[in-house]
Amino acid sequence: MYLKSLTLRGFKSFASSTTLQFETGITCVVGPNGSGKSNVVDALAWVMGEQGAKSLRGGKMEDVIFAGTSGRPPLGRAEVVLTIDNTDGALPIEYTEVTITRTMFRNGGSEYAINGNTCRLLDVQELLSDSGIGREMHVIVGQGQLDSVLRATPEERRGFIEEAAGVLKHRKRKEKALRKLDATQGNLTRLNDVLTELR
Ligand code: ATP
Repeated sequence: MYLKSLTLRGFKSFASSTTLQFETGITCVVGPNGSGKSNVVDALAWVMGEQGAKSLRGGKMEDVIFAGTSGRPPLGRAEVVLTIDNTDGALPIEYTEVTITRTMFRNGGSEYAINGNTCRLLDVQELLSDSGIGREMHVIVGQGQLDSVLRATPEERRGFIEEAAGVLKHRKRKEKALRKLDATQGNLTRLNDVLTELR
């Protein structure tokens, strides 16, 4: 699995539709200060479901929509399309190429689509969680964040690794199953009480 391309339309400084093609291996984005390098990384986090405006370096979620310049009026919507190569089947979906689309309108609300079919944020999160790209986004280490990763407590570090390895989902499922078992045990105890009374 690898990221094949990223298309930005009306996202932050990318007013016109802009597509970045990636190859396997390492990709470097270079450019002068303020040219939009970090905006590309923000777009990646955003299309994968990032919900925090601060993580996207904005005050509110609508700040991702192109706000206009002296020569160009603001836009009413932002859209990012991420294409992932899935020939190795790393994503649990029957397609060798997967596109994830997120659209946001200035009057509020986000829309998501997987391979062109409208879906929920949860569907995007579930699709990506097995690949190690979880909700906490530990796969994106922003400027200045490296320090906090290095200074993390052993528990926090374990959390990062569990998230990246996709263990967290199974831990949550285990906790849910244990709660159900507990409730069932309680019901059994009550049933036994009733049976004892009836005998
Ligand atoms: P540096 O090398 O300094 O870190 P960078 O290449 O990472 O810079 P970015 O932070 O990605 O640059 O881009 C900043 C630019 O994006 C600024 O010029 C800012 O005005 C512009 N920008 C951010 N949000 C929007 C928006 N909603 N609409 C229009 N332009 C925006």
